[in-house]
Amino acid sequence: MFIKTKPKMKKIATLISFFFLMFNCGELIPNPDDNPKNIKREKPNPKPQNEKVNDFAIVIHGGAGTILKKNMTDEKEAEYKSELEEAIRVGYSILKEGGSSLDAVEKTINVLEDSPLFNAGKGAVFTNTETNELDASIMDGKTLNAGASAGTKTVKNPINLARAIMENSPHVMMAGDGAETFAKEQNLEIVSPEYFKTEKRLNTLKRVIKREKEKTLNNKSAFYDADIKDSKFGTVGCVALDKNGNLAAGTSTGGMTNKRYGRVGDVPIIGAGNYANNATCAVSGTGWGEFFIRATVAHDISALMEYKGLTLKAAANEVIQKKVPNLGGKGGIIAVDKNGNMVMDFNTAGMYRASMNDKGELTVKIYSKN
Ligand code: ASP
Repeated sequence: MFIKTKPKMKKIATLISFFFLMFNCGELIPNPDDNPKNIKREKPNPKPQNEKVNDFAIVIHGGAGTILKKNMTDEKEAEYKSELEEAIRVGYSILKEGGSSLDAVEKTINVLEDSPLFNAGKGAVFTNTETNELDASIMDGKTLNAGASAGTKTVKNPINLARAIMENSPHVMMAGDGAETFAKEQNLEIVSPEYFKTEKRLNTLKRVIKREKEKTLNNKSAFYDADIKDSKFGTVGCVALDKNGNLAAGTSTGGMTNKRYGRVGDVPIIGAGNYANNATCAVSGTGWGEFFIRATVAHDISALMEYKGLTLKAAANEVIQKKVPNLGGKGGIIAVDKNGNMVMDFNTAGMYRASMNDKGELTVKIYSKN
């Protein structure tokens, strides 16, 4: 009995040492004394899934909503496109020169905030009581640091305030009077509340209020009416990947027409309207903020990539084409991932948007196809 089991034990010992070797080394290392035919080689690594497609890249939006060609003149369309191009070229130059994605995002958004065409900075939409209350946020994908401001009425460029809060305060979000005091301390440009006002946005508010009375809509949906030409969203946002592999996202808005005083949307809520993480992507959203908050849109896209291994395109599609509309929400996002893949996805008729890759190729679009 003893004599019979001995060779078996030897076999078992050989097998054990074989497995030990295998699991310790992670791979089989060929022994030159072995017959090459008997050496099991690991298959070469499949092409890495995550290939770098752009060394740097930038994407912007100027809001999503009921933007229809039939409501747009050729001149207006050209005006929007040229403003988008002007803005994105500012960020592109910064990235091309080796500047940071944070600088590219901030400076690009400044151009859009200063333009009365968009619902951010000058040209912001009106609250129910005819004031302009601005929200903004910025996030650094490298450190996961973030800054946000809500409900300011006198800070000319809210994205600059968001960045100052991120870099020069121990806080992430500041609101109202306190945020404005901080802006003054930081020597940011302060303007009169009148600066933000435009005739066009005031007229939109009046139309929405009239409609509200006619339809006796409840307060929940009062600030979105697809039938009213200008009752679209119009937030601005920018996401960028720089040459050092750092991602950043920024979003700035006047919120939604006819919002009640004190209402804060998704834009300054980190993870809802804005998010950046070097491990995944940078996202900026635009749309009906209440739904973007409830669906934690921007972070959800990043999380689907991080925890489920989805591509940026698939993750954005999941959130924008399924999760948000399933709740009843509308809007879109722009995003860039750590490999320079760019996505512009929306479930509305249109979204003002533009992108530039590291070769300087520019895309500017408004409607679903062009
Ligand atoms: N998301 C913004 C808000 O709800 C509106 C927009 O995107 O235009 O405040």
